[in-house]
Amino acid sequence: MQNTATDMVVATTITGVRESVANARAMGSTIGFVPTMGALHKGHLSLVERARKESSFTVMSIFVNPLQFAPTEDLAKYPRPVEDDERMARESGVDLLFRPAVEDMYPGKREVTVAAGEIASEWEGSSRPGHFDGVLTVVAKLFNIVQPDITVFGRKDLQQAALVAAMIHDLNMPVRMIIAPIVREGDGLALSSRNRYLSDDDRRSALSLHSALQEIRRAFARGVTSTVELEQIGRSVHDLTPNVRLDYLAVVSPTSLARNDDVSKTSAAIVAARVGSTRLIDNMTIGGDDED
Ligand code: AMP
Repeated sequence: MQNTATDMVVATTITGVRESVANARAMGSTIGFVPTMGALHKGHLSLVERARKESSFTVMSIFVNPLQFAPTEDLAKYPRPVEDDERMARESGVDLLFRPAVEDMYPGKREVTVAAGEIASEWEGSSRPGHFDGVLTVVAKLFNIVQPDITVFGRKDLQQAALVAAMIHDLNMPVRMIIAPIVREGDGLALSSRNRYLSDDDRRSALSLHSALQEIRRAFARGVTSTVELEQIGRSVHDLTPNVRLDYLAVVSPTSLARNDDVSKTSAAIVAARVGSTRLIDNMTIGGDDED
């Protein structure tokens, strides 16, 4: 039986999670897992909805993972609305919410980390050195703690999704990964926990990420297939937008994240930009419809 909005278990310890998952398995449940850093929004909840369709016991983790933040980044100020998060998780039908403390996930000195390979060499990987080693290490730990049958990640973080898929494959992890579509505001802005940092002016300028991706998609539909030309079309949108500093914009393979000359309808346009002081990312399949 699925949870009906009241009986969510909240575990703060690894032992507590293992017990709760073992009980669910003993009742014949399959385990679905949605890892997050909290500050939940409808994007996160869409992953829960998908996990509930694909499994019978849904686990969500909320953990702001220090290992994936550089010293200069927003670890300390990353939003942690604990009560709202718990309410939203409960209302969305999460069965078990895992909210570990940093000391429980990283007690003392660590000898072993997961090292991301070539997929991490550019884009978020070069803008945020060490970020993906931190992501993969915590995801591997969470998989070992929860031992899910399936896991749902968002396409919003395309490079992260590609790396987690590669880790599952390369390390023979017994979990099936689902990559769910990007949830957007009505005007196209991709939902993100960091959107709450945006001022009204920033919020308007932030739309340029989505607009640039759409321009690329339109150009591809018109028959433009040169990577360079498509990228230039996207960049020109940003050049016209106040308050936006482009970090990268590229047309890449959605699995290797490599830029190459063979653009196809499954190629992804990816973008990262600083809007005011907030760094945002977005992406789109260039041959897709408006679904993502
Ligand atoms: P985060 O809490 O930002 O680490 O994100 C947790 C998960 O939610 C990741 O798999 C993200 O890709 C996913 N996610 C974040 N924003 C969205 C969105 N707008 N639509 C769909 N999934 C999202």
